[in-house]
Amino acid sequence: MSTITGQVIRCKAAVAWEAGKPLVIEEVEVAPPQKMEVRIKILFTSLCHTDVYFWEAKGQNPVFPRILGHEAGGVVESVGEGVTDLKPGDHVLPVFTGECKECAHCKSEESNMCDLLRINTDRGVMIHDQKSRFSINEKPIFHFVGTSTFSEYTVVHVGCLAKINPLAPLDKVCVLSCGISTGLGATLNVAKPKTGSSVAVFGLGAVGLAAAEGARIAGASRIIGVDLNANRFELAKKFGVTEFVNPKGYKKPVQEVIAEMTNGGVDRSVECTGHIDAMISAFECVHDGWGVADLMGVPHKDAVFKTSPLNLLNERTLKGTFFGNYKPRSDIPSVVEKYMNKELELEKFITHEVPFSEINKAFDLMLKGEGLRCIIRMDA
Ligand code: NAD
Ligand code: ZN
Repeated sequence: MSTITGQVIRCKAAVAWEAGKPLVIEEVEVAPPQKMEVRIKILFTSLCHTDVYFWEAKGQNPVFPRILGHEAGGVVESVGEGVTDLKPGDHVLPVFTGECKECAHCKSEESNMCDLLRINTDRGVMIHDQKSRFSINEKPIFHFVGTSTFSEYTVVHVGCLAKINPLAPLDKVCVLSCGISTGLGATLNVAKPKTGSSVAVFGLGAVGLAAAEGARIAGASRIIGVDLNANRFELAKKFGVTEFVNPKGYKKPVQEVIAEMTNGGVDRSVECTGHIDAMISAFECVHDGWGVADLMGVPHKDAVFKTSPLNLLNERTLKGTFFGNYKPRSDIPSVVEKYMNKELELEKFITHEVPFSEINKAFDLMLKGEGLRCIIRMDA
C-alpha cells in the first residue's frame, strides 16, 4: 500500500454521466488526500434511495458527471496533512454528514448538524480547495455528499469517517453507514416511543424497516406499516411490524384510517418515503395532546409542507432528522458494536448482492421496489 501513498491512483469507478442513464464503469484518477482528508479503499457499498433520487435528478439539482454512493465500508489507504486519528489500515464507514468536533453543533448534545460538514447535496467538490479529487483525462468528475463510494478508491474529509471495530464484517456493517442507522436513530433518538405505545412507519424500505426495528427495540406494542407497495408487507413481518395499511385501498386519507384504528391517532410516527403527501399524513395521524411525528425522507426540492396550524396547537409535535441524529464519529462505532453483540440484526436487511461490474442491477432492483439492500462487492 505504501508505494501508492502520495500518488494518484488509477482505479475503477461507476460514473453517472447524465441523469437517469446507466452508470458506466470507467478508469478514473483519484488524487492523494489533501489537508484533513483521507483516501480509502472501498470494499463494499450499497444503494440507498437517496442515490437514486440524485441520479434521476427529477426533483433535485442535476450535478453531472458525478460518482454517487454514500453507504459503504472501507479501509484507510493514506491520510492527508493534519489527520491524526486515522491511519492506513483502519476500518471505516464513510458518512454523508460529518462531525468536525469543534463547532457549536458538534459541541451540542442535541445536534448532529455540523456547521462545517453537514450534508450538502449540491456540492460536488472537496471543502479544502473547492476541487474534485476525481478526474478522467484531467476532466473533473464531481463528488456526491462528500463520500462517492461507487469507486474503488475515494477521498473523504476525516470528519465524515467513523472508525469502527476491525473485526466487524464490512459486507454487513456497511449498511450502518446510512440507511439502517438513519431509520434506527429516527425512532430511538428522535421519535422516542415509550414502552407499550403505538408507532406508524410510513415507507417500508430499508430505512423504514430500520425505524420499525427501533420501535420494536423501544418496546412499542403496535407497529403500523404504511406503504403503497403491498409486496413490502410480507418482508416487514420480520421487522416487528404488526399491522399494515395500503393508502391505495381506501377512499379517505390514510391519516383518518390510522386515527380510526388507534382511537384518535398513534403515539409516534416516522416517515421514510420522501413523498410530501406521506409526510403530511405522517404528521396528521399522530394523537393530539402528545403525538410526535418524525420526518426523514428526502423531499422533492420544491415540496411544501402544508397543514393547519391547529394540528400543532392541538399539541402534536413535528420533528425531522438527518442520519437519525447520530454524530457519525462519536456514535456510529457503538452502533456497530450493537451488531457485534447481536442486539441488532443486519442480515435481514441485505436481500441482494451484485459484483461492482453489475452495479446498474442494484438500481433496477430499487426502481422495481424489490428487496431492501443490495450489497455491491468492489472486488468482483
Ligand atoms: P426505498 O425506496 O427502499 O423505500 C421507500 C418506500 O416508501 C417504498 O417501499 C415505497 O413504496 C414507499 N412509499 C413511497 N411513497 C409512499 C407514500 N406516499 N405512502 C406510503 N409509502 C410510500 O427507500 P429507502 O432507501 O428506504 O429510503 C427511504 C427515504 O429515506 C428516502 O426518501 C431516502 O432518500 C431517505 N433517507 C433519508 C436519510 C436522512 O438522513 N434523512 C438517510 C437515508 C435515506
Ligand atoms: Zn461540527
